[in-house]
Amino acid sequence: MSLPFRSWVEIDGRALRSNVRFLRKLLGKERKLVAVVKSDAYGHGLIPVASELERIGVDGFAVADPQEGKTLREHEIQLPILVLGPCLKEEWEEVIEARLCPVISTFQEAQELAVLAQQRKQLVHVHLAIDTGMGREGLSGEAFFREWEKIRKLSWIRVAGLFSHFASSDSDPEATRHQWETFLMYRKKLGLPLGHIANSAAIGSNPAYGQDWARVGLALYGLSPFPSLQSRLRPVLSWKARISLFRWMPPGSPISYGGSYVVTCGERIATVTVGYGDGYPRALSNRAYVLVKGKRCPIRGRITMDELLIDISHIRSVRRGEVVTLLGKSQGEAILASDLAEMAGTIPYEILTGISLRIPRVYRNFSSLTCEFLPPMNSGASLSGCVLERVSKERGG
Ligand SMILES: *Cc1c(COP(=O)(O)O)cnc(C)c1O
Repeated sequence: MSLPFRSWVEIDGRALRSNVRFLRKLLGKERKLVAVVKSDAYGHGLIPVASELERIGVDGFAVADPQEGKTLREHEIQLPILVLGPCLKEEWEEVIEARLCPVISTFQEAQELAVLAQQRKQLVHVHLAIDTGMGREGLSGEAFFREWEKIRKLSWIRVAGLFSHFASSDSDPEATRHQWETFLMYRKKLGLPLGHIANSAAIGSNPAYGQDWARVGLALYGLSPFPSLQSRLRPVLSWKARISLFRWMPPGSPISYGGSYVVTCGERIATVTVGYGDGYPRALSNRAYVLVKGKRCPIRGRITMDELLIDISHIRSVRRGEVVTLLGKSQGEAILASDLAEMAGTIPYEILTGISLRIPRVYRNFSSLTCEFLPPMNSGASLSGCVLERVSKERGG
């Protein structure tokens, strides 16, 4: 199907539901699935994705900051919302108003929050961060217990859970196990009813790490660093562009800025309607490939702001306007965000969250989506345009 865009992203609700089903099975009944929807649901669109997830039935959401949490509440999201990043003092108001659950590390944060909570006469639940080896939030050892003793005495603040975060769950099973054991030890000492430490990679390496909550982002969107898991997941997002021009370039023709590629024996070179200004990494110049009619076409020369060039010599009957797949499936072939990431020397998270907001998001097979979900541009949710293609009534499709 051809859309009236130069480049667009398609988000598949059916793939999202399939991933949720798989993750639920992996985690078992006693572990809860908290959907991580920070950074505009990893570029997939905060509101459409969260609404669909709430409808399918996840157990809660995690966001990066209170603004994202507030946006969810404004769109009728009822489930618990955990705020992962440390909040600024002026953000506590929003935390209380939107009934968010912040992760805190220090007594100072708790005290600032307690002052407001008392004014509002509203008990605020927080989760306490412990640093078991990530080094980004939380304290450890003596310092941790000192803060804990003070925080637990505050009225209007209830420490409802213990939070930690794995640093190398995708690469270092030994360090991960060590962090896990440290976490369990602290948890036992504090006697808190709830604890959570695992991300996607952690539950991929050992589902038991998902106790009591698994905070899952990447796997929800259909990606995993583990091949055994990758084969069970379905990438939710695909990214398309079009061929706007193609020409036969004779031997010796330099291609794009700096002439970093020179045609050797003659090539049919096509111009594709996407560039680094859209979030397609410039680092992929002369490295990556795109798919045209299910065939790999290498990128030639440097990627420019709004266009890139590919070799289509081996593709028959290409037409102007032909659809090019940057991410996702094209006939038998597929490009994963992790493939592109590897070629660009980065991680799939950066590829997904880097897709510019000027790229329209098209939602397919979303059961709960109506066009009213078009979020305002300042909501932290994406969408320079949104097309509702098909409202599927199937449940759990
Ligand atoms: C982003 C994030 C997650 C989710 O990580 P994935 O690898 O995407 O599953 C979980 N916990 C915290 C604290 C995070 O910042």
